[in-house]
Amino acid sequence: MGTAFDTKIENKTTTDLAEFARARDVKYFMVTYTDLFGSQRAKLVPARAIADMQKDGAGFAGFATWMNLTPAHPDMLAVPDPSSVIQLPWKPEVAWLASDCVMEGKSVEQAPRNTLKRLIAEAAKEGLRVKTGIEPEFFLTTPDGKMIADSYDTATKPCYDQQAVMRRYDIIAEVADAMLDLGWEPYQNDHEDANGQFEMNWAYDDTLATADKYSFFKFMMKTVAEKHGLRATFMPKPFPTRTGNGCHAHISVWDLDGQVNMFADRNSSDGLSEKGMHFLGGIIKHAPALTAITNPTVNSYKRINAPRTTSGATWAPNTVTWTGNNRTHMVRVPGPGRFELRLPDGAANPYLMQAVIIAAGLSGIRAKADPGPRSDIDMYKDGHTVTHGSKLPLNLLDALRELDKDTELKGLMGEEFTSGFIKLKTQEWNSYASQLTQWELDNTLDC
Ligand code: ADP
Ligand code: MG
Ligand code: MG
Ligand code: MG
Ligand code: MG
Repeated sequence: MGTAFDTKIENKTTTDLAEFARARDVKYFMVTYTDLFGSQRAKLVPARAIADMQKDGAGFAGFATWMNLTPAHPDMLAVPDPSSVIQLPWKPEVAWLASDCVMEGKSVEQAPRNTLKRLIAEAAKEGLRVKTGIEPEFFLTTPDGKMIADSYDTATKPCYDQQAVMRRYDIIAEVADAMLDLGWEPYQNDHEDANGQFEMNWAYDDTLATADKYSFFKFMMKTVAEKHGLRATFMPKPFPTRTGNGCHAHISVWDLDGQVNMFADRNSSDGLSEKGMHFLGGIIKHAPALTAITNPTVNSYKRINAPRTTSGATWAPNTVTWTGNNRTHMVRVPGPGRFELRLPDGAANPYLMQAVIIAAGLSGIRAKADPGPRSDIDMYKDGHTVTHGSKLPLNLLDALRELDKDTELKGLMGEEFTSGFIKLKTQEWNSYASQLTQWELDNTLDC
């Protein structure tokens, strides 16, 4: 189903939301912010109240969401960024807004969108503007999430399956039509490597725009799937023997005008300029620590370091290595002027994953970091022969410890953010570890 109306905004910086509502028959604004765990929180605000909210923000009890706050903290105000406004393609009387969190007149440092904006400003101080494109993978499942939705989708090698992608045409096309109308420049949709798994791609953009788009994409994909009686999940590894949901990030760095790609260098045999190599060097150096942010759940570690799936490969990394156009490594340089970080998964916070990529890359550029030798082996077959490159953390707790040890990365991400993130994520790990599982009973009862 197409969307007939134009959702693009001509003058992004001066959008008066009350005027926007009048011009487009918007009845409600969904004023949202994203918490530390990547959940989007919202208040549905009638158009009559949006002028005040645009100035002052919508009030939230931050402790009631995944933020490192107490019930005694004052209201956290989500001040909408009018440049992010999107009229819901499936319900045009509602318009969505990403917001920046403020408390008692001060920016809430731990709030993910603020963290990303701070890193963007840090990069700008060095004359750098980071652009990324992300590749969200997701499963379409039955409403309870227990099974893939398509009982015919059983091929051993289901990637790019023509029949299976057409069986989901109504959902995929509805979302792709919306992206076309929004001006995101979508360019392909496919069935991915696991039964029941899909991916949709649109053009790369500035990191903040990519983060807002990815947040909205998740909301849109889940909503459209529900409308069609299914469920969309971005969970990193919902099915143990099938390929997991990655969220690869393609990265390039530009001058402040966004015109000159500083990663491009015609004369480089590896496809990246010296600056690009240093940025990559930062990613390699901080990889074990940044994994806590790009792979932020207990389940994330069942996708990376995984045994071979039924399709023949996991398509997920296990070691901190880089390569050319070879999908078995953590970083792939698919062509000149950009590289692909294959580490992040579908649970990564859309804002924090961008922020930590900038942080690690900046640290690399400042220190003129060397990414080490390129490797061209098949990591899935010959990974054991690699003598350089550390292993990725094996579980969330190890990753959190790596992040806690990495004082430089913590400093760049901000003390208020990192201490809050590590604290809440450690609680999550402890909650998981306190479970008594069937596996333990099966393997220990007769010890
Ligand atoms: P893959 O081959 O890894 O599956 P996809 O085509 O699915 O690649 O996704 C590639 C992503 O990389 C897209 O989001 C695309 O816009 C983005 N991309 C392409 N060129 C650049 C670039 N120079 N900088 C950042 N991202 C880029
Ligand atoms: Mg109340
Ligand atoms: Mg892809
Ligand atoms: Mg993919
Ligand atoms: Mg990819």
